[in-house]
Amino acid sequence: MAVTHTLTIIKPDAFGAGKSGQIVAHLEQAGFRVVAARVARLTTEQAEGFYEVHKERPFFRSLVAFMSSGPCMPLVLERADAVAELRRVIGATDPAEAADGTVRRLYAESKERNAIHASDSDENAKRESGFFFAEMELIANRQVNER
Ligand code: ATP
Ligand code: MG
Repeated sequence: MAVTHTLTIIKPDAFGAGKSGQIVAHLEQAGFRVVAARVARLTTEQAEGFYEVHKERPFFRSLVAFMSSGPCMPLVLERADAVAELRRVIGATDPAEAADGTVRRLYAESKERNAIHASDSDENAKRESGFFFAEMELIANRQVNER
């Protein structure tokens, strides 16, 4: 399986609770390498832009308020089959339904305050990585150049 990239965000609930170190360690132990990382406090407009695909969903306003409620930690991660593997490692959206040992099962509070985001396709991984990081930062640290 080819080495690819994905975008994750340690969300404001987990970051604010001081869980970012444990979550990054969990991801590294699962075989991901950190290519880029930052701490960001999203404005309302930025959170709306990031989650634009959900703008018609009933939970959209609440999700935007949550994601802009405090600092979060976006990271670009690299490993074989990164998008699918990260979705597996974080678990189901609702922590009550997430498999044992997944990040959401271990660290999430609720279906909304669910600790971590992961891109759901290679195309969205590219869009979301570009949302937080300059091309220059991504190129510098990649082991594999997908362009
Ligand atoms: P993410 O995109 O953050 O990785 P996901 O792909 O598992 O999560 P989505 O359906 O894309 O889930 O929903 C985006 C986010 O919106 C969820 O992670 C969660 O924070 C919130 N959310 C989703 N469904 C609900 C819901 N029914 N009630 C409240 N919040 C929700
Ligand atoms: Mg999603």
